[in-house]
Amino acid sequence: VHLKSFSTYGFKSFADKIELSFGSGITAIVGPNGSGKSNISDAIRWVLGEQSAKYLRGSKMEDVIFSGSGKRRPLGVAEVTLVFDNSDHRLSLDFDEVSITRRVFRSGDSEYSINKKNCRLKDILDLLADTGLGRGSMSIIGQNKIDEILNSRPEERRALFEEAAGIAKFRMRKKEAMRRLDDTAANLTRINDIKAEVE
Ligand code: ATP
Repeated sequence: VHLKSFSTYGFKSFADKIELSFGSGITAIVGPNGSGKSNISDAIRWVLGEQSAKYLRGSKMEDVIFSGSGKRRPLGVAEVTLVFDNSDHRLSLDFDEVSITRRVFRSGDSEYSINKKNCRLKDILDLLADTGLGRGSMSIIGQNKIDEILNSRPEERRALFEEAAGIAKFRMRKKEAMRRLDDTAANLTRINDIKAEVE
């Protein structure tokens, strides 16, 4: 799913509304330390449903709202919108373009919308499930994750590759199927015992 544009107002260091358009191919965002590069990836993870303030380098969700700097007063709301090209309909909505917006207020209240229509967080998570964009997917790899990968043991590294390749899901399903098979085998033994008693 191709990300066409990113816009935000009030998220972390972005006190003014900004919009970035992404063409095809690779886009690199460069800038001095502390200029807000990581804040952009935080914003993307946030709008895709991240619920952990810690992973967004804060302690509570309201920390993502612009907290003021120099002469600028803090803002009361943070808003991020992503627009995806959906001409291949990978996102199961009958639109060639899909926008996802998330908003949070100082009160802690959150709002979500898909194509400007209010929705629940669950609707966004459902829409993104199995697209490789959802929470916990490997589509965004943070700086600390790279250190983690380089320092990890071979088995841990394998788990990461399996997750990225989508194998982890099947491993979980296999485990669940094995458990059910075991349960069924136990039930069969019980039935046979009862049958033997009755006969
Ligand atoms: P580096 O290259 O060092 O990783 P970076 O370009 O990735 O830097 P970020 O970590 O994205 O920089 O941005 C950090 C800046 O964002 C800091 O100056 C910090 O003060 C500012 N910032 C973070 N949260 C807020 C907020 N809620 N309100 C205002 N500014 C914020």
